[in-house]
This record gives sequence, structure tokens and C-alpha cells, in this order.
Amino acid sequence: MAEEYAVQVAVDVPLFGTFSYLTHLPLRAGQRVRVPFGPRRVCGFITNDIPTEGIETGRLKRVEELFDELPPLPATLLAMVRFAADYYHHPIGQTLFTALPGALRTDRAVRLEDERLWQLTGAGLAEEPPARQKARRALWQALQDGPLTNAAARGVSAQAGRILADWLQEGRAERVAPEALPLRVAPAPSLNDEQQRALEALSETRDDFAPYVLHGITGSGKTEVYLRLIERVLAAGRQVLLLVPEINLTPQLIERFTGRFPATRVVMLHSHLADGERLKGWVDAWQGRAGIVIGTRLAVFTPLPRLGLIVVDEEHDGSFKQQDGLRYHARDLAVWRARQERVPIVLGSATPSLETMANVAAGRYRRLTLSRRAHDAARLPTIRLVDTRRIKLVEGLAEPVIAALKARVARGEMSLVFINRRGFAPVVACTDCGWLSGCPRCSAKLVVHLAERKMRCHHCGWEEAVPPVCPDCGNVDLKPLGQGTQRLEAALARLLPEARLLRIDRDTTRHKAAWDEVYRKVHAGEVDVLVGTQMLAKGHDFGALSLVTVLNADGGLYSADYRAAERLFAQLMQVAGRAGRAEAPGEVLVQTQWPEHPLYQALLRHDFDGYAQTLLEERRMAGFPPAVYQALLRADAYEIATATAFLTALRAEAEPHADGVLVSGPAPALMVRLANRERAQLVFESGSRAALHALLERLVSLAERMAKAHGRALRWSLDVDPQEM
Ligand code: ADP
Ligand code: ZN
Ligand code: ZN
Repeated sequence: MAEEYAVQVAVDVPLFGTFSYLTHLPLRAGQRVRVPFGPRRVCGFITNDIPTEGIETGRLKRVEELFDELPPLPATLLAMVRFAADYYHHPIGQTLFTALPGALRTDRAVRLEDERLWQLTGAGLAEEPPARQKARRALWQALQDGPLTNAAARGVSAQAGRILADWLQEGRAERVAPEALPLRVAPAPSLNDEQQRALEALSETRDDFAPYVLHGITGSGKTEVYLRLIERVLAAGRQVLLLVPEINLTPQLIERFTGRFPATRVVMLHSHLADGERLKGWVDAWQGRAGIVIGTRLAVFTPLPRLGLIVVDEEHDGSFKQQDGLRYHARDLAVWRARQERVPIVLGSATPSLETMANVAAGRYRRLTLSRRAHDAARLPTIRLVDTRRIKLVEGLAEPVIAALKARVARGEMSLVFINRRGFAPVVACTDCGWLSGCPRCSAKLVVHLAERKMRCHHCGWEEAVPPVCPDCGNVDLKPLGQGTQRLEAALARLLPEARLLRIDRDTTRHKAAWDEVYRKVHAGEVDVLVGTQMLAKGHDFGALSLVTVLNADGGLYSADYRAAERLFAQLMQVAGRAGRAEAPGEVLVQTQWPEHPLYQALLRHDFDGYAQTLLEERRMAGFPPAVYQALLRADAYEIATATAFLTALRAEAEPHADGVLVSGPAPALMVRLANRERAQLVFESGSRAALHALLERLVSLAERMAKAHGRALRWSLDVDPQEM
């Protein structure tokens, strides 16, 4: 009988653990195979081989096919997948499949182009083919400009394959690995002093883990610093991973990188690529051919054998956290990876997250600051608050704001109207004395549900009626904060009939063609007023904006979502950063009913650090992250009662084991109804990550076992370090 081996295989199913199979080939961890799974045939990956002694091999199914078009997945990737599966308590198979491009998740073989390049040898260069040999002559001429891939050579002549094979034989052409090409660097502006200091500090560590925060206001030249640092890393023969928020992966950014390093292969990775394209980029990175990988959160898993640096740009951005399936945070995994692979990592932002600020304060991350705009002439905008308590509003707009917009339109200058449409979970407030609907049982705010006249705590589940008058001062004018954004856009069109308005929303930014058109119009001076939501707060360059107005930010001041103030502050810092031209500083007008609020006071002073410290202190007092570690166990069903019953039962089983972990709930989620289902959650909090994770481990297996008893419609998921409640 032929020799038999047993292996463990990870497949894409919602079950914890891997599955045993038999093979008669010795297989290695990371190899891709096809295996039978129930009635199906599926793709799987070998995680390790196991001893055959002691197992009943007769009952095991066999590996059906080995796909060897690619080498086994590298150990570094498998290690990261293992870590992510443990940390997020997610099935190992599903974690691995999340990390891979779609083409490798099918049970079919993939086809890959030969990516080596052709170039002429000295002998080849010396001998120009005669003019009558058209194909040879054309190919020879094309190769004068530099090496060609197979595909590019075929583009020059259909006979390229045969000709090159001849030339290879005759010693006139040779194959080169793309990474062997010398680095070329296009001219760059010389750095200012602050940038230079940052660059030198960032270059201090090589071949070791070193976490940095590059905290620079918008336009301060962070990207220029990355480019210089990347140049040094590429020159040392290493690869670079640059993670950017979904929305920032623009043609302009790519152009900046490919323009600076014209001979370096820059690969882009994001979820909108066709399967083949994504696979090609991924393999290019893995095989070391790509010098730079620029991608969204999923790119954090890209194998890079010569990794020398990771940069996470706009590290505070919410799109780094995946909100379904494996709920990973790409920034956090990037930091883990940098430590594991012993390379420096730079987290860049104009408004670092509080998690990152806490790491800076604790001395774990080293912060470098860029405090001035890179263009000497461009100055910080002046910010003014328009107190709407004392002014009559016209369709939600204050007279001074309308006048300022009109003046800009008349002068032919571009303005931006920022409408904050983020769903702030509204709390009830007293406009007289400042009373807020806080929870009597915990430090969260109560969310108001006006239709039912109810207030609920999404943290611990407390519920009470909306009081008829302010409990503190008796004022009858109690209002939910942060409502009413719909009319504003229509109102703007009526109030500024002569202005050319351009709306930017999710649809505009999702489609590349639409986005390019926005960009073209803005830069061609065809727009007077840009109207948009949080999309506009991200790091786009809209050129010269003379005025920025913010219309309805107040909802973020006192929201039931404890992260709302952090997000609002970051957004306002970012939109304010859009104002200003080379000749004159821009102006920012913020309409508010709460001009004394510390958030706005800090904004007036451009004081990010001060307000970040205030928020960190508030979080510490209230016991919210980053002062504690948090996890949510969410459940949803057609009716909230089903979800709540499951969570109540789960809590009863889990709580006796909750050593050092605070358990709250079940409580309705901030958005109770979503896609026809109702959601509730348990909240777990602890000052000790180890204690929290020990409980989560148990919780997940309890949930798996107990969910069945609550009907097929019930779904549950765990979210470690949740960003949304
Ligand atoms: P950030 O990434 O911080 O928003 P960028 O690197 O994009 O900043 O720089 C903002 C603008 O200033 C860009 O147009 C960039 O080309 C330019 N810039 C950056 N650094 C310098 C410099 N040292 N000298 C001149 N221009 C610079
Ligand atoms: Zn009051
Ligand atoms: Zn509560």
C-alpha cells in the first residue's frame, strides 16, 4: 500500500477549527487543494500535517487535487491569519479566506502570466536587425526604451514569442527579474525643516519594529514625507505597504507615487478590482516584483517577502475597520504585522484617533509633528462660530452664512458647504440649562425614540419615558439634538440661484468616472459651491477654497454614541483644513447653538491636542475605550424579543466566568432596525485584554451551542474593539 499522510485543511465555512484529510503526497502548510466537504467540492489550504498514528484513517476523505500554480502561502501570512482568527474569535478558515484574493478562493486552478522581463544583451544591442525584418526591427526598437514583459512584447509584434526565444538562444536577449531594475526617482521639492526632521527621525530605525505617528495638519506635507521615506526603503531593496482609506485611493494619489518612482512597480489592491487583476497584483507583491503596494484595508494581508516599511495614512479613518464577517481593524493588524516582521510603521493623520493618542501618551508610539502647511504662503483659516440661538434662520441657514456664500459667488471664489449627515444617535437636551438625557445606571446617554416617546440606553438596556419638562429646570422646550438635515440642500439651491452647485455624496465617490468628473470640474473652475457630506472631510485636494461653512454639527456634541464627539472634531478639523488659498487665508463659519462647547472652543484655537486630552479624560472617567477594552456580541432576528431572549440566556451562562469583565445588556442597538431585522447586543468591557479574551473564547462556543435553541432566524456575531455601537 502507498504511503499515507494526514493533513489539516482550512476551508471557508463558519465552523471553528480545521478538518482532517488523507493524501498520498506529503503536503506542506500553505498549499492550495481541492477537498470534498459534505456534498460539495471546495477549495482549502493545508494548515499542517498531523501524525497518522492514533487516528482512524479509514474514515477520512482524501485530498482530491493539489493546485501548484503558486508556491505554498508564506508562513508570515499564515501566522497573521492565525493571530487574527484568535484575536477576533473568528473561524480560522473564514479568516484565511478573507485574507486572500477571490481567485484563490475557488476550487479551480488559476493561470498566471510569466512576469519576467525581456531585455537586450550587449550583443543584442550592438546588432540592429535589417529593415526588411519588420517584426524583429520593431521589437528591437521597442527594447531600446527598456525591458518588456511577455505581454508587452506581444503587443509590439504577434511573433514576439518566437523571436525572443531565438534571441535568447543566440545570446542577444535575456530575462530579468523586475525587482532587479534600478530605482529611478523623479525630482521632488526640497523638504522644509519640519519635514526634514520628521524624515530623519523616521529613518532612524531599520530592520526593527518602531511605531511612529506622523501628526500633520492637512496640507502639511505628510505624503511628501512618506515619499522620501519610501525612496530610502526602496533604495535598500525593500518593499513598502501603504494603507489608505477606501475613499482616498484616487488616481491622483496613484499618479503621485508612480510619477515619483517611474521604474518601480506600484500595485493597487482594493475590493473593486476584477478577480484576475487583484490576483495579479497580489502575486506581484508576493513574488517581490512590486516595490509598493497601495491598498485599502484588505491589503494588510498582502504577502511581501522583502517588507521594509508600513504606512497607514489617515489612520483614524473608520473604513479601516471591516463591519461584517471578520471584523478586523487593518490599522491594528498592520501594527501587529510590523512588530512581527520587525519593520517600522508610520501612522499618519491630521487627527489621530484617540486610541493612537493614548498610545502616544503612554510612550508606546513616537509622535512627529508637522505644524505648518508645506506651501509657505498658505496659512491656517480663521474660524468663526455663528450663534444660531440669537439669529433667525432662513430654512436652516443663518443670514451671515448666506451673505458670506453670496459674496464668494459674486467674487468668483469657490466655497464648500459641509452638511453633516452622519446618523448621530439623538439625545434629548434642555436648551436652557444644558440638561442631557443620561442613563441612571451607566455612563452612556439615552437615545430618544420620539415615535414611542421613549428613551433607551444602548449600553445597559435601561428604558424610560421622555420627560414632559426638563427635570432640572422645568423648561418645557426639550428637543432632540442633531436633527433635520434634509431641507438644507434644497434651500441652498433656492437661496443661491446664481451659483453653480455641485453635490458630492457616496454615489459620486463610488464610481471612478463620476469622481474624475467632479475633480475635473472643480479644478477647471466650473463650480461655485461644493455641497457635501463627510466625504468632503477626507484628504482630497480641492485646490483653493475660500470659504467653508458647517451647517449642522451640533448633533455630534452630545450623542448617545460616545465616539460622536471624536468623529465630529476630526471632521471639522479636516474640513477646516480645506479652506485657504495661496494668497489669502480661508474662512470657516460654523453654525451652532452651543458656541461655548469645549469642542468648538478647541476648534477655534486649532487645538487638536487639547481637545484630544479632554476626550481621553472623559473616556477614562466614563470607562469607555481606549481606557478599557470592549467587545460586543450582537444578535439579530425578525423580532427584538428573540434576540433579547438569546442574549439574556447567553449572559446568564457567561457571567459566572466573567472574571474582571463587566457585562452589560442586553440592550437594543443604536440602530435597532436594519434591513428588516431587529438588533440587540451585550457589551463586554475590561481593563485587561487577557481577561476579556478568556471570556470571549468561552462566550463564542456558548453562543454557537445556544443559538440553535432560539430559532433559525437568529443570527449572532462578535465584534472585538467595535467602532460602532
Ligand atoms: P498632506 O499629505 O499632509 O496633506 P502633501 O504631502 O500632499 O500634504 O502636501 C500638500 C501640498 O504641498 C502638495 O501639493 C505637495 O506637493 C506640496 N508640498 C509638500 N511638501 C512640500 C515642500 N517641501 N515644498 C513644496 N511643496 C510641498
Ligand atoms: Zn433645563
Ligand atoms: Zn445605561
